Amino acid sequence: MAPDAPTPDPNPGSDEARELGCRCPVLDNAHGRGAWGTSGDDAVFWTSETCPLHGPCPACNDSGVLSTMGGDTIGPCPECAP
Ligand SMILES: [Zn+2]
Ligand SMILES: [Zn+2]
Repeated sequence: MAPDAPTPDPNPGSDEARELGCRCPVLDNAHGRGAWGTSGDDAVFWTSETCPLHGPCPACNDSGVLSTMGGDTIGPCPECAP
């Protein structure tokens, strides 16, 4: 891995994530290594809906799009869309 690679958010359940307020399961994610014995590029994780780091976007509920109460699309979510 390149030493100057950008640092992604710490893995769910890892100590680093916990220090940032992560509320995802620790043991189920093997302390950030991965759930179900996974790790590295194939790692999958449990995430908590209440986790501020890994939970769904509060603005759009992870749809990536903001819409009105009536269902009209406003545009990409400024909270999580690139
Ligand atoms: Zn988390
Ligand atoms: Zn969003």
